[in-house]
Amino acid sequence: MNIHEYQAKQLLAKFGVPVSKGIPCQTADEVYQAFGELGESLAVVKAQIHAGGRGKAGGVKLVRSADEARAVAESLLGKTLVTHQTGPDGRVVRMLYVEAGSDIDRELYLAVVMDRAAQAPVVIASAEGGVDIEELAETRPEAIAHHRVHPVKGLMPFQGRAIAKHLGLTGDQAKQGARLVAGLVKAFMALDCSLAEINPMIVTKDGAVKALDAKMSFDSNALYRHPDVVELRDLNEEDPKEIEAKKFDLSYIALDGNIGCMVNGAGLAMATMDVIQLKGGSPANFLDVGGGANKEQVTNAFKILLSDQNVKGLLVNIFGGIMKCDTIAEGVIAAAKEVDLKLPLVVRLEGTNVEIGRKLLDESGLDLQTAASLDEAAEKIVAAIA
Ligand code: GDP
Ligand code: MN
Repeated sequence: MNIHEYQAKQLLAKFGVPVSKGIPCQTADEVYQAFGELGESLAVVKAQIHAGGRGKAGGVKLVRSADEARAVAESLLGKTLVTHQTGPDGRVVRMLYVEAGSDIDRELYLAVVMDRAAQAPVVIASAEGGVDIEELAETRPEAIAHHRVHPVKGLMPFQGRAIAKHLGLTGDQAKQGARLVAGLVKAFMALDCSLAEINPMIVTKDGAVKALDAKMSFDSNALYRHPDVVELRDLNEEDPKEIEAKKFDLSYIALDGNIGCMVNGAGLAMATMDVIQLKGGSPANFLDVGGGANKEQVTNAFKILLSDQNVKGLLVNIFGGIMKCDTIAEGVIAAAKEVDLKLPLVVRLEGTNVEIGRKLLDESGLDLQTAASLDEAAEKIVAAIA
């Protein structure tokens, strides 16, 4: 789960990460007011969407008066912002963050990520901030420092000092930098983040070190421990199909192909997507109905798949282990009838009671094809939508 920059900054401030004063706003009038409230000669109006690259796309603007702030707000609110992270469809700007402007001397990069290989959080730091870290990692990997964080003890003070040094900070700035790193790591661990990124972390002309941007992602398996974080969720930023799927305990991820897949088990789902590609097709989604899928879940899964305009055909590939194949067949039949399915449907069942299941499908009167193997199923659905 992701949150907005202004929310991340509010959380990080509680952990001692210095940020500028800012006010979230939903209307141009609020932005006008906010400029006055901040009482600075320079402010920044920042589009709040769950994507970076806003600066280059015109979503971050420096303003020097309340009128200018209002004009910028009017030009941004309701507009679709397309950045290199949003994809071609972009994101609609519904919220702005008005922040006291900073006089920047240097832009640095700092992040904490969960590193599976290290089996721990890792701090990533670079003196070259504000740029694409992915690009830097390719062209000059030596410019990026990595420090593994002990999963129980957390960040050691010497690591904080080493990171500050790598960032080129000395004297009082080194102290401020080390404190900021420590705060970021504490927040990351306390809130079960998968990512906490500050890009850029800045040194201002008067020597203050702070977070100018903030991005936080949370491990969804740990959200039950953080109801306060769950409240920060912005459903406008999420795919409505994925939200709907979650309600029914379905794991759904939208992809950009045209074959809707209903599968049980993540491994089988991945194998199904691979075989579809192998046969020249392209999956529209990854949908795992879980090991013990019932009729209601199958029906809801169908509805979610069909709500995707790109879907031209459906492939059901289910292994009857916990569930028997005849129960699954009944679910598929009932669901297809309930949603009045018009698209080509190929069903491949395997497992307990598979013969009874196939017989039910064959005798259902529905216009569907059955398949005995995954290969055959993929070939059939690819041919059916060709
Ligand atoms: P992103 O483009 O979505 O990553 O948005 P950021 O919050 O990182 O802002 C993009 C860029 O805008 C930063 O790298 C800065 O160069 C610039 N910027 C943001 N806030 C300020 C500010 O207070 N003062 C100045 N001078 N520049 C700013
Ligand atoms: Mn940024």
